[in-house]
Amino acid sequence: MTRIDLTGQQFGRLTVLEYASRNPLNGNANWLCRCECGNEVVVDGYRLRKGQTQSCGCYRAEVSRKNIMTQEKTRAQMVKHHISEKAHVDGMTVLRSTNSSGVVGVSFDKQSSKWVARMMYEGHLVLNHQFHSFEAACGARFAAEERYIGSEKLNKARQAQMVKMARRQTRSLRTNQAVAVGK
Ligand SMILES: [Zn+2]
Repeated sequence: MTRIDLTGQQFGRLTVLEYASRNPLNGNANWLCRCECGNEVVVDGYRLRKGQTQSCGCYRAEVSRKNIMTQEKTRAQMVKHHISEKAHVDGMTVLRSTNSSGVVGVSFDKQSSKWVARMMYEGHLVLNHQFHSFEAACGARFAAEERYIGSEKLNKARQAQMVKMARRQTRSLRTNQAVAVGK
């Protein structure tokens, strides 16, 4: 297989410095690149040419931060709705009462007085961490969603979630009293 020399070429934020190695898994050439932020990374040449890798990872991190900020606004709107719901975590049914966050996967633990961020992915608990601040817990949850679900699917999932929440809100207005008494 002939190797296309990418030395000196620019792909997004990355400038190719030199040939690094051959990827033993797919036979592609790996290239040493310098990112605009100063990091040096070795990237698969195929991914470079296809535009799949355009930074050392700093670009993706920036996008995630922006997403978290826009999702913060969405959260603020959701919190207004005072939603109660049951979430299944590790087979246990955890009741999230109306004093919880309103953000799926983030709840307040009264015993420790901390915010807990959780996420289930393909049947596994991939996130279970306590935070002092609500924002930090939301940040962790959103970052996990971004990591495991990906932004494209996530947007669809969020839309579906909003629809579900709107429906549930109507229902919870009727059942809130029952939930409070039955606890
Ligand atoms: Zn970078």
